[in-house]
Amino acid sequence: MPLFATRITSLGTENAFRVGEDIAKVVARGMDVVRLNIGEPDFDSAPHINEEAISQIRAGNSHYTDPQGILPLRQAICKHIKATRGLDVTPDRVVVSTGGKPPIGFTIQTYVNPGEEVIYPSPGFPIYESWISYAGATPVPLHLREETGFTFTADDLKRLITPKTRVIFLCSPSNPTGGVLAKAELESIARVIREHAPPDVRVYSDEIYEHCVFDGEQHHSIAAEPEMESRTIIASGHSKGFAMTGWRLGFVVLPTAEEAAVFKQLTINIMSCVPPFIQEAGRVALESAESLPYIEHMVSAFQGRRDWVVEALNEIPGIRCQNPKGAFYVFPNIAGVCEQLGILDAYRALPSDRQHRTSPSAMFQMFLLYRYGVATMDRNSFGKIGAEGEHFLRLSIATSLDRLKEGVGRMRRAAADRDGFAAFMAEEKLYA
Ligand code: PMP
Repeated sequence: MPLFATRITSLGTENAFRVGEDIAKVVARGMDVVRLNIGEPDFDSAPHINEEAISQIRAGNSHYTDPQGILPLRQAICKHIKATRGLDVTPDRVVVSTGGKPPIGFTIQTYVNPGEEVIYPSPGFPIYESWISYAGATPVPLHLREETGFTFTADDLKRLITPKTRVIFLCSPSNPTGGVLAKAELESIARVIREHAPPDVRVYSDEIYEHCVFDGEQHHSIAAEPEMESRTIIASGHSKGFAMTGWRLGFVVLPTAEEAAVFKQLTINIMSCVPPFIQEAGRVALESAESLPYIEHMVSAFQGRRDWVVEALNEIPGIRCQNPKGAFYVFPNIAGVCEQLGILDAYRALPSDRQHRTSPSAMFQMFLLYRYGVATMDRNSFGKIGAEGEHFLRLSIATSLDRLKEGVGRMRRAAADRDGFAAFMAEEKLYA
C-alpha cells in the first residue's frame, strides 16, 4: 500500500514560498540576495492596528469566537463593501477567514464536483489551479494577453463557458501581472456571464489587492454589475492593503446566507475560528480614519517604484515590460533574454522528463538567483497548463527602491552574460 493517497499528488503549491529553499542555499554560500520573490508589502502593519491587538490580548480576549467571524468585524466589512462597491450586504453573508487563501479551497469544495470545470486566469494566483486539480475538477485556463495589458475579452471568456462550468475565478488587480479590469471590461464580462452561464455558476472575484490601484484609478468589483451580486463571491482581506500578511486575516461575502453557512461549517471543521484579537484589530483597520493615509502612503511608494522599475527593465536588451495598473508586481517578458543567453537551446537539449520539471523562464530565474543573487518568480509558478512558450518573470516591487535598483542592475548584467549561463549549466547540475 502506498503511504500517500492519490489525491495528494495533485495538490500544487505557491512557489513564492518554496523558492525559499534555493535562497537559503545561496545565502549559505555567503551571497547577498535581493528578494523580489514574495508578494508582501515591505511596510509593517500600522501602529493603531497593532495597539488594538495588544490591548485586546491584555484585556483577556483570548477565547474561541463565532466561527463565521465576530459580528463587529462582519458589520465593518458590510460598511466597507457599501462604501467601496455600493452594495448593501448583511453580516450573515460574510465569513471571516485566516487570510485570503482558505476561501479559495472552500469555494472548490462547496460548489465543484470531480469532472466539473473551473475557469481561472493564467497567469494567475497558483492556488486556484492547485485546488482545482486537487479536487479532481477540470482546470480551464483563461489566458491573459500581454498585448492588452494582461486582460481578456468577454469573447475569450465566452468561449470557455460550457454546461460543466461551475466556478469562474477573476482577480483584479491581478497577481502576478498587475493588470486591472476597467469598469467597461467588467460590464462586458458580466454580460457574457449573465447570458451564457446558468445562475448557479459562481464567480470568485479575488479582490485582495483592492487598495493597490495606481494613477488615481478606482477599484471596481464585478459584484456591482447588474444581477451579479447574486452570482459573485467577493473575496478580500487585510494581507496586502493593510500590510498584515502575517496576521492571517481575510474575508468573503457570499451571495446568500445559506452559502455562508457552508463556509462557516468548513471553518468549524478546519480552524474553528480566527483569533479574536486579530479580528478586533482587523475591525479597527477597516473603521479607523488613520488607515486611509497609511494605505495611501504605501500605495504611492509602490507607484513610484513601479514607474522606476518599468522604465529600467525596458532599457535592458531582451526585456519588455508592461506598465501594471495595480497590485505590487511587474511581469516582464524575458523571451529576448532566453534567446540571447542560449536558454532556449539549453532547454531543448534537456531530456524530456527534465523539461517537464522546468521551463526557460525558470532556468533564467535560477541563473539569476544562483549567480547574481536576485530572487524572482518564473511564469510557470502562476499556472502551468497551456503556458508552454511563454517566457516571463514576476518581480515583487514591495521592496525598497534601493534594493530594487540593486536587483535590476544585477538583472541587466545577467541578461548579457551568455558565458556565465553556459558555465552555470555546466557547474550547478540543477538539471542533470
Ligand atoms: N489571492 C491572491 C491573488 C493573492 O496574491 C494572495 C497572496 N499572495 C492571496 C489570495 C492570499 O492571501 P493571504 O496571504 O491573505 O492568504
